[in-house]
Amino acid sequence: MKLIDTHCHLDVADFDTDRSAILERCRATGISGIVVPAIQAAGWEKLLELCRQETILYPALGLHPVFIESHTDADLTELGDKLSSENPLAVGEIGLDFFLADLDPRRQQEIFEAQLHFAQETRLPVLLHVRKAHDQVLAALRRIRVPGGIAHAFNGSMQQAQQYLDLGFKLGFGGTLTYERSSKIRHLAHDLPIEAIVLETDAPDMAVSQHRGERNSPEYLPEILAALAELRQEDASVLAEQTTRNACEVLGLPN
Ligand SMILES: [Zn+2]
Repeated sequence: MKLIDTHCHLDVADFDTDRSAILERCRATGISGIVVPAIQAAGWEKLLELCRQETILYPALGLHPVFIESHTDADLTELGDKLSSENPLAVGEIGLDFFLADLDPRRQQEIFEAQLHFAQETRLPVLLHVRKAHDQVLAALRRIRVPGGIAHAFNGSMQQAQQYLDLGFKLGFGGTLTYERSSKIRHLAHDLPIEAIVLETDAPDMAVSQHRGERNSPEYLPEILAALAELRQEDASVLAEQTTRNACEVLGLPN
């Protein structure tokens, strides 16, 4: 079995003490790739260095909407340079967050669209963070065409899901699937065509139900796969193969 964690912040300090032990356990469970999306410019060098050291890790570079106040125009210029010189897997994590009230929506839109233009120029897929902003993100994606990507921790409607799929995107599902009360997301994961779905942990956040309240970890990815298999009443190994194929296809990785 081969699995890819399409969204995991393994570069953050929460993992500084035991990162290599985690990666060893990941390899032993069949996890063959972990995509590490960036948060802000100050973290890019550490993230890139980790991904150089560990072949299982793939970097994405970008400016996360939740940290909009810390991003500068100089960061954007540097991002443009780094996307060409460092050859990351994707542009991310980028997007719009209209759930948190104190994040300037106009500045978010500006930084988001600038990064979509970078993705278009470099022909890189994008990793999207979207909260209460699916229609605005979809409108931007129709104006500025990029080579697809992943809507991470997808929580929109079936109609919005279909619009992402039409634009060449996959939808990321994570630990939320393991909670019975997440009925909207569980229904989506049940009803969507399997070609639409990729798996992610979003560690250190969003722990699976078996590890509620603890630090999340990419090594729990098989528990998310198991929840998906139970929901869809399908064989876990078949779902592993298909979701890995989806991830490789959209991220341009060899399968
Ligand atoms: Zn994230």
